[in-house]
Formats: sequence, structure tokens, C-alpha cells
Amino acid sequence: VVVVGGGFGGLQAVRGLRKAPVEVTLVDRHNFTLFQPLAYQVATGALSPAEIAAPLRSVLKRQQNAHVLLADVTGFELAQQQVTLENLANGQPPTTLHYDTLVVAGGSRYSYFGHDDWHVFAPELKSLDGAIEIRTRILNAFEAAEVETDPERRQAWLTFVVVGAGPTGVEMAGQIAELAHDTLRGDFRTADTTSARVLLVEAVDRILTSFPESLSAKAQQALEKLGVTPLLGHMVVDIDGDSVTTRTPSGEVERIPARTVTWAAGVNASELAGMLGEQSGAEIDRAGRIVVEPDLTLPGHPEVLALGDMVQVRAGDGTITPMPGIAPVAIQQGRYAAKLIQQRLHGEPVEPFRYRDKGNLATIGRSKAVADIKGLKLSGFIAWVFWLFLHLFYLIGFQNRLLVLLRWLVSFVTRGRGARLIDDRL
Ligand SMILES: Cc1cc2nc3c(=O)[nH]c(=O)nc-3n(C[C@H](O)[C@H](O)[C@H](O)COP(=O)(O)OP(=O)(O)OC[C@H]3O[C@@H](n4cnc5c(N)ncnc54)[C@H](O)[C@@H]3O)c2cc1C
Repeated sequence: VVVVGGGFGGLQAVRGLRKAPVEVTLVDRHNFTLFQPLAYQVATGALSPAEIAAPLRSVLKRQQNAHVLLADVTGFELAQQQVTLENLANGQPPTTLHYDTLVVAGGSRYSYFGHDDWHVFAPELKSLDGAIEIRTRILNAFEAAEVETDPERRQAWLTFVVVGAGPTGVEMAGQIAELAHDTLRGDFRTADTTSARVLLVEAVDRILTSFPESLSAKAQQALEKLGVTPLLGHMVVDIDGDSVTTRTPSGEVERIPARTVTWAAGVNASELAGMLGEQSGAEIDRAGRIVVEPDLTLPGHPEVLALGDMVQVRAGDGTITPMPGIAPVAIQQGRYAAKLIQQRLHGEPVEPFRYRDKGNLATIGRSKAVADIKGLKLSGFIAWVFWLFLHLFYLIGFQNRLLVLLRWLVSFVTRGRGARLIDDRL
């Protein structure tokens, strides 16, 4: 079995096969699995990169039937049952890897709505590199404000824009506000970090649209209390090194001088979905996701499964029930893939994949969150405690759980952030 992608979905598939009489090769372009839900805490200096990433080799150390291969998957030959690999660690030319069963879980990447040129001014939080880059930009902006003598330019350094008010954007904006108004208060002699503006720009008229309206409203109140200004109904129409330009539905255009912008808007499926679609003729939706059969296989290729952020699943009646691009979907699909492979080996019938929706959670800042769990709406401290334990539970590796818990306890008490390092390689 070849599994492409050691994220939430792929890793579950590999682990689910630990007792199966198969040899598994996990291919990933990174040597670690990243816990993306906490990337924003790295971007704001609350956690260190290593605390939200676990080396794949150590995660799978005891699983004797699992092999890890560090490489980029750059293509598929479905007819020959082969995966094309590039950028192997020894620098060898591209090579191929044969499979009997292939599981592809390549995830997604941020989409700049056709404006890829904005990426240089507004990095995204999808990768560890992205999180470290954002951290460096944010911390550097405060340093720049400290030495900037022109008041307008200083204000532009102290204006932070987050684009997209989904859970990631909300978490990010809340954390920048806490950093500026709380953690860094008194650290600078000239710049008044408490005068920093944090703008959360969202094209629709409320934040957290995947939550019920009442929770959106509560989250917005909590954000505003932290010092975040939501700019709802504002579409970003331009980003450059000095500013963000927005437009309202009535056509009002505003140019906001801001030196630090974070992108947390729409996502597109991994390029691997398109490659599989080209080879198999499977449908690709507008977000670049490949539409798989009810058992997660590619049409006409029962030996190939795809899952996680890069797929949509067709139901038995041919319709597509949209599933959110969140970790529980990928985890459940990864487990399902492992079970399916074993059921096939035993000649047992396979039920279609069914997603069990366990709810929706987003945190707003220190000790505030919103949760919608099967109709039960929670907000404030209780929701935050729930959020905290759930994230610790899913974080991979005992050591990381312990370290993150300690870090959170310390920052809760001291309001500090220990990982405020400017990476001067950037
Ligand atoms: C900032 C952020 C915050 C989030 N917060 C939450 C949250 O709070 N709760 C929640 O449920 N979900 C959250 N999500 C969504 C969640 O992280 C994804 O839904 C989940 O990671 C999807 O799992 P996956 O297995 O499909 O892909 P991923 O976990 O992204 O894994 C994909 C893997 O494939 C590898 N890969 C990709 N392409 C190649 C290639 N060509 N060759 C080799 N390897 C490749 C990547 O290196 C990666 O390891 C968040 C996402 C982001 C970006």
C-alpha cells in the first residue's frame, strides 16, 4: 500500500493498517506531520514550531510494516499502478514507486482567488514555513514601529490586516490583538503597541459563517473586546507592500495603509487531485477537489482511494453531500480507508463512507471560544476549556501534548509568549 501525504487523513490510514498483512509506504514532502489547527499559535509566538509537528519516522517507529519516504509526488501512472517521485534526499533523478493499493491524502492549499501575486505581501498559514514567516513579519512590524519617526508610517506598521473571518482568521486576529494589547505592552519604549489596529476583513456580512448566527455574534463581541475591528461586507480587491484595498457592495473603495497582512481566506485542493482527475476522468469541482465514489475510490479505479481536504464524496444516489475541509473528516476517512483495505483482504463487503459530524469549534483568544456540538451551543470559558482539551487530545505525541499544556498554563498565568523569535533568514 502506498499512502501519499502524512497529514490528518494519510497518517490515520497508515496507523489503521498496523495489524494488516500489508507493507505500507508513506510518502510525504515533509519529514513531519503538522498539526495545522495550532499553526496560528506559532505565527503569534505562543508555541514553537516543533511543538505542533511530529517527525513521521518517530510516529511510525513501532509500526514494523510502515516505511517512510521523504519525496515529492509529482505524478501518477494509474494504468501501470505507479507514483512518480521527485526531490528524494540523495538528489537522484525522478523515480517511480509501484503500488497494489494507493491512498492519496494531499490536503489543500490557500487560494488567492486568482491573485497569486498577493502571496508575497500576504503569506498564508497553511505550512510551518508560512507560520514562521508570519511570525517574523508581525514581530518585525513592532520593531519597525519602534524606530519609525513618521506618525503615519508608524501607524501603518501598527496596522495588521487578516483576510478571511473563518476559524483561522478569527483565531489569528484574536491572537495578534492579544499580542499587541497585552503581551507586548510595555516592551517597547517609543511604539505604543496598544494603539495597534487589527482589522479582520470579510466579504460576507458575518464572521464564522459555518456557525449558527447567535455564536457568530458572540464571537464577534468577544473579538471586538480584544481590540479587533471586523470589516464585514468588505471584499479585498488589492494588496501591495504598503496597503490593502477593499470594496463594499455599494462600491465604496477604501485603501488601508497596512504593512502586515495575513491571508486566511479560501482554499483549493492539492494539485494531486487534478492529476488524479486527469488520469481517471473523475469530476473536479470548483475548489479543485476530486469527486470520489461512496467508498472513496476513484471511478474505474477501485485500487485507488483519495481522501481528506482534496476530495468530495459522491453518495449512492449520485448526489454530492458537501463535507467541510476539517480534520475530523480527514481522520474519519483515513480510518475508513484502512478498514476498507483490510475488509477487501478478507473478502468482506464494504459499506460506503459515512461522516459523523461531531461539531464545530473556534477559539477567539485567551479563554474565549465558541462551540456548536450537535445543536448544543457553547461560548466563553466552557467552550474554550473544551477546545483546549480536544486540541491536546488530537495533538500527536505525548511529549508535544505535555509541552503545549505547560506552555498554555504558563502563558495563561503570565500572559507571556515564549516563542517570539524573528527569523532573520526571511
Ligand atoms: C491554519 C489552519 C487551521 C486549521 N484549523 C482547524 C481546526 O481548528 N479544526 C479542524 O478540524 N481543522 C482545521 N484545519 C483544517 C485541517 O487542518 C484540514 O482539514 C486537514 O489537515 C486535512 O487533512 P488532510 O489529510 O486532507 O491534509 P493535510 O493534513 O494537509 O496533509 C496533507 C499532507 O500531504 C503532504 N503532501 C501534499 N502534497 C504532496 C506531494 N505532492 N508530495 C508529497 N507529499 C505531499 C503534505 O506535506 C501534508 O503532510 C485548519 C487548517 C489550517 C490551514
